[in-house]
Amino acid sequence: MRYGIFSDIHANLEAFDAVIEAFKLEAIDKYLCVGDVVGYAANPKECIKKVKMLAMITVAGNHDWASVDLFSTDYFNPIASEAIFWTKRNLSDEDRYFLESLKLIYKNEDLTLVHGTLDSSQDFDYMLDSYAASKTFKLMETQTCFVGHSHVAGVFIQDKDNHLDYQEEPFSDIEDGNKYIINVGSVGQPRDGNPKAAYCIYDTDENRVQIKRVDYHIETARKKIIAAGLPRFLADRLLAGR
Ligand code: ZN
Repeated sequence: MRYGIFSDIHANLEAFDAVIEAFKLEAIDKYLCVGDVVGYAANPKECIKKVKMLAMITVAGNHDWASVDLFSTDYFNPIASEAIFWTKRNLSDEDRYFLESLKLIYKNEDLTLVHGTLDSSQDFDYMLDSYAASKTFKLMETQTCFVGHSHVAGVFIQDKDNHLDYQEEPFSDIEDGNKYIINVGSVGQPRDGNPKAAYCIYDTDENRVQIKRVDYHIETARKKIIAAGLPRFLADRLLAGR
């Protein structure tokens, strides 16, 4: 099975289209989305429509739920809140129904998906360090867990002796006895200093996870954010990937 796994589109249609095109070259069997389809950029409706067609499963992100009042914007900074209010005004009933229907965790025989962490999925905490990772490793019933939320691609590894390691390399071989938490990075608003859209391929026959990056028309996405009246900071940060 080859899974195409992606996260944090954040209504950036140009980035999402580039990732969809890149996935077409990868013989993907099933697509999974780790949340935050909306929030920040200018095309929430279009991105919801495409994710519904593409992904077998989408789990809830904090922006998805905040856009339909299932999560409080008290936890958002002023710019993120402003983007949520804009997003709310630009959703149809059908879009809202989709976002309301998203569950926090998905698990099958191969993997688990959660936007933030497994120990407090409803709080959307960040998987930023080995302490956070260790709490999720304890709860994992599958060998791999795919997360998003921080917009920083990377892999936490726990070996049989419970030693933790972290790597930013784009490849990771999935070895027996180890467990893996893979942050797939962000499609629509990378924050690891690389402005290219991130996406992930998990091949369960080859036991390998790859995180890849693809160029997209940042300038078009940027101009749309500004034209929509969204905060200019959200447009400019795309150029830096921060
Ligand atoms: Zn996000």
